[in-house]
Amino acid sequence: MKIAVVGSGYVGLVASACFAKLGHEVACIDRDRGKIDILLAGRLPIYEPGLQDLVNSGVGNGSLMFGTDLPQAVSRAEAVFIAVGTPDIGDDGRPDLTSVFAVAREIAAAASGFTVVVTKSTVPVGTGDAIEAVMSAILPRERFAVVSNPEFLREGRAIEDFDHPDRIVIGADCEWAREVMAQIYDPRHFPDVPMIFTSRRTAELMKYASNAFLAAKIAFINDMSDLCENARANVCDLARGMGLDARIGRDFLEAGPGYGGSCLPKDTRALVRMATDHGAPLAIFEAIVAANNRRKRRLAARIVEACGDAIEGKTIGLLGLTFKANTDDMRESPALPLIEDLKLLGANIRAYDPAGMANAARLVDDVVFTADPYDCANGAHALVIVTGWSEFQALDLQKIRSSLIVPIVIDFRNILDPVEMAANGLAYISVGRASVQPLHILDQGAVLHVSPSLAGLSEHRIARTGGTAGGQMPNQAKADAGLVALSSLVLAEEDFGHPDPR
Ligand code: NAD
Repeated sequence: MKIAVVGSGYVGLVASACFAKLGHEVACIDRDRGKIDILLAGRLPIYEPGLQDLVNSGVGNGSLMFGTDLPQAVSRAEAVFIAVGTPDIGDDGRPDLTSVFAVAREIAAAASGFTVVVTKSTVPVGTGDAIEAVMSAILPRERFAVVSNPEFLREGRAIEDFDHPDRIVIGADCEWAREVMAQIYDPRHFPDVPMIFTSRRTAELMKYASNAFLAAKIAFINDMSDLCENARANVCDLARGMGLDARIGRDFLEAGPGYGGSCLPKDTRALVRMATDHGAPLAIFEAIVAANNRRKRRLAARIVEACGDAIEGKTIGLLGLTFKANTDDMRESPALPLIEDLKLLGANIRAYDPAGMANAARLVDDVVFTADPYDCANGAHALVIVTGWSEFQALDLQKIRSSLIVPIVIDFRNILDPVEMAANGLAYISVGRASVQPLHILDQGAVLHVSPSLAGLSEHRIARTGGTAGGQMPNQAKADAGLVALSSLVLAEEDFGHPDPR
């Protein structure tokens, strides 16, 4: 089938390359000449694992082409996907649909034959009706159909998500359009994938409902992590125990710095707006939006608390800037308010991100971007993990320890092991878990706890743990030191006991 995709961003580019792989003939169009030039030069304007190979192969076999000429691409296409951005504007949660309607008009002016217009962009319920109205002022209604095909891909896993979606949602109020969509998403390529045919309005709302629910899970576990910290429980174990309940599920139960990205924040705000506009306010999501904003704004205070006092004039190293790992997307990343707040508090900021530094550099200033995590830690008074890139799980902790001025690591993603951190001489503060203080190995072989643990480990209990080998922390010493750190976590619960049931 001949397809045009308008918008060559995260959604449009991935969809174009994946449709081409399915055997369709795809023209991917963008008004941004710079992006198209990058694509025509054989490179990608975004970072997405596996996408470069897929684009190369589509371009190589002639099934995928790029350009800026929308009328030409549309006039040849049987289906046109709208995949332009719908950012929110102002404070009221309403997304900006200017690009969607502009593209709809251009499609109406250029369409030849019967054309199925498919919104992949996330748009409020009823937008399909409005697109239909806009187009019908230019093109007779019997010449086109408007379909909603919401996109559920996750950046960083977008190709896998396209190939193996949990479901494919088609919101179409016209039988012919449904048949065209069933040909595009040929079930032979998607065996066992539920294909949900529903009304256009339901499909539009389904996207928002799904994203808002995911945001709710994140906000829930984040609030639980605060409770875990105060109640001296462990949010990772709690989430695992909850998530193994099939009714709850494990995904999106990772406590962290608050959700970000191009979708969850704006879509949750838009749902709140939509619900109010439709006379069915969603108080629960209003609270979620507020809680997430508060959480992002508390990150800097947590760093100050971990550093023991003001951070004015101190250097803070940030590991990770993107809103999550495996993407270069900085949209609504928790790193942005954090950097703003750290600057207000007078901190000097060093930062490293495996993919996001070019995008970050356009959004923030007064940040020193570094070559690698060790350079980032160099001369810092604390190192903060903001994004859970897997390479941060494999850091050489001794190298980190010696690069830092003060051996503090604050992990907003819970990707490191408290026991390992303490054993490597690092104070470690994570989310919803007991914090640990560094352990030192003395020449005589005794393990010494450098300062009273935040978890309440007392000196005599450390002394009781007995001797280990000294020097360069051989494995046995590390293991013993780890035991002390571990015992601090356990002891914390014993020491503080349970709240008085009265
Ligand atoms: P994006 O900003 O990365 O890409 C949008 C592209 O559209 C840009 O390249 C822009 O130049 C182009 N564009 C804008 N107006 C245009 C016009 N008039 N003509 C031609 N091109 C135009 O956005 P994205 O992240 O790909 O998101 C697109 C839509 O998909 C949004 O509605 C978003 O909410 C939704 N969505 C995004 C994701 C995601 O993970 N990024 C996932 C699901 C759904």
